[in-house]
Amino acid sequence: LQRYARKTVLVFGAGSDGEGWSNGKAAAVQYAREGAKVLAVDLRDDAATETQEIIRSEGFEATSFAANAADNASVQEAVAACLDTYGAIDVLHNNVGIGEMGGPVETTLESWKRVLDVNMKSVFLTTKHVLPIMEAKRAGAIVNISSIAGIRWSGVSYVGYYASKAGVNQMTRVIAGQYARHGIRCNAIMPGLIDTPQTYKHLAKHYGDGDFERMREARRQQIPMKILGSAWDIAKTAAFLNSDEAKYITGEVVTVDGGMSCS
Ligand code: NAD
Repeated sequence: LQRYARKTVLVFGAGSDGEGWSNGKAAAVQYAREGAKVLAVDLRDDAATETQEIIRSEGFEATSFAANAADNASVQEAVAACLDTYGAIDVLHNNVGIGEMGGPVETTLESWKRVLDVNMKSVFLTTKHVLPIMEAKRAGAIVNISSIAGIRWSGVSYVGYYASKAGVNQMTRVIAGQYARHGIRCNAIMPGLIDTPQTYKHLAKHYGDGDFERMREARRQQIPMKILGSAWDIAKTAAFLNSDEAKYITGEVVTVDGGMSCS
């Protein structure tokens, strides 16, 4: 598929927090494989560079950029870098997200602020600075990576994370509603339990390293399909939603969870 030929995609959170395929890294690679020029942005320069190198090693086009998606000036720099490098921003992919465990009693105010700042402010700031560029072209597509935590209780408390992802879902609908008449679409994806380095870190934190494999198996059994999702399931859903094949889909929050939400 070459759905992204002549398109530029700006990916925030394009690196990986550990070995293996994360949602953001896979998405950046997927867009590039489909013909896009990709600006791979991550807080960590080394993570962004790794994604750039993977894409270039496959013979596709990417440039890395280090920026903090939760900081106004930093987001402006990334947007300017994309315009300087590729002259356009056709697609925005917001993958940035962090989770910190605890209910309202255990969670510190600092943790609450940090999680909401990163997960919600990143979507606010990136769309704030990219929407005017898309509006001028009367075209654009945005995908925000949310979580099924935004709509359902999954057995472990992450109060700030759950609240932030519900916020991402609603920001998605607001942007979609306001910008539909400008030719801009905005959708979100709610991954379930995905086999990424981040998931391993969280499972290990909750259940202790010794029991990690057992708990991973227990979580797997909670998924009707009995398999964890892969970062490519998320990447390919995003590549569909942001492509012209999905030109009549906007304001949609798509669940990709192997049936977890059915149970
Ligand atoms: P990840 O942590 O491996 O990747 C996220 C990347 O974002 C990292 O490279 C990190 O350095 C970067 N990042 C963090 N804060 C940043 C900031 N302020 N500015 C710029 N970059 C920043 O995680 P992932 O597995 O790719 O998951 C990413 C998204 O998917 C998150 O939004 C997460 O909430 C969501 N999600 C993941 C799962 C799962 O099972 N892995 C499930 C549901 C939702």
